[in-house]
Amino acid sequence: MKNIYSNIYKPTNINLNKAKIAIEKGDVIAVPTETVYGLAANAYNTKAVEKIFSLKKRPSNNPLIIHCKNIEQIKKEAVINKNFVKLVKKFSPGPLTYVLKKKKSSKISKLANKGLSTIAVRIPSEKNIIKLLNILKCPLAAPSANRSKSLSPTTAKHVVEEFGNSIKMIIDGGACKIGIESTVIDLTTKPKILREGGLCSEAIEKFLKIKLSENKNKFIKSPGQIGLHYSPGIPIYMNREKATKDGALIIFGNKNCNHNNTYNLTNKKNFKEAAKNFFNTLRIIKNKKFKSISVNKIPNKDLGKAINERLRRAAHYE
Ligand code: AMP
Ligand code: MG
Repeated sequence: MKNIYSNIYKPTNINLNKAKIAIEKGDVIAVPTETVYGLAANAYNTKAVEKIFSLKKRPSNNPLIIHCKNIEQIKKEAVINKNFVKLVKKFSPGPLTYVLKKKKSSKISKLANKGLSTIAVRIPSEKNIIKLLNILKCPLAAPSANRSKSLSPTTAKHVVEEFGNSIKMIIDGGACKIGIESTVIDLTTKPKILREGGLCSEAIEKFLKIKLSENKNKFIKSPGQIGLHYSPGIPIYMNREKATKDGALIIFGNKNCNHNNTYNLTNKKNFKEAAKNFFNTLRIIKNKKFKSISVNKIPNKDLGKAINERLRRAAHYE
């Protein structure tokens, strides 16, 4: 029988070199990051970027995040500003994505940023993607390695669950340390959070000593941030204490977790732990064929904001 995991590769130097060759050829591969696993392609190569959209069945209005190895590489592609300089020194490498004006001289494929005048850039901290970026001459366009609208993958095996053998190479960096996507901040105007994510917006506010303005113009600024997303394919009910018949219950904190339909995101109400377990827990429940997911109220602060944003979109409350 064919080994379904034959496309998972350990992050050895030899395999990272194979990954480099694949990227240079215009292939799409899956890579670990500290947030979630990504489907990566040469950001300069339009044909390669196109493969990402078709593999994911990603709507054509949803631009990709460009993963760069360092600030110098970002400077080649984007017009930087004061807020960027402050934030990047403090929070990068890490789960913060900056939306900046795209430089006229940038070679990033227009398809990757959907022809917008801006691009979204990030410096990941996961050591294997950084090793790969360091041996490549191009940045990587990389959205999450899942079919569009579906659950984000936080292990190499999840990527196989999403794509089977249609991705030729998945670099296995183990379970993602953060477990939810990056926070996206628009720095082209007064700083504005476009998507809550792995770095809580309160930390950014505290550091910049400003109140971040709300994203009222969501549709235009961040086209991918509307509609159903992150979905396990079964109904999700938020702010519930009990599961429905044949449903599972996700709890937040140290409560009775003895039922075999009950899953605890964190024992000690720790937001980081909850975020790390979030997608994996939804995936376990989906794979066990429960009919619905009820979720305890999760405090809307710290990384709870990012978890609630994902739950709302998975339940498609707009
Ligand atoms: P994903 O790749 O699925 O993690 O999503 C990346 C998100 O970043 C997209 O859904 C967009 O909302 C946002 N994004 C990427 N590029 C831009 C951009 N140029 N302007 C505004 N938002 C962007
Ligand atoms: Mg995604």
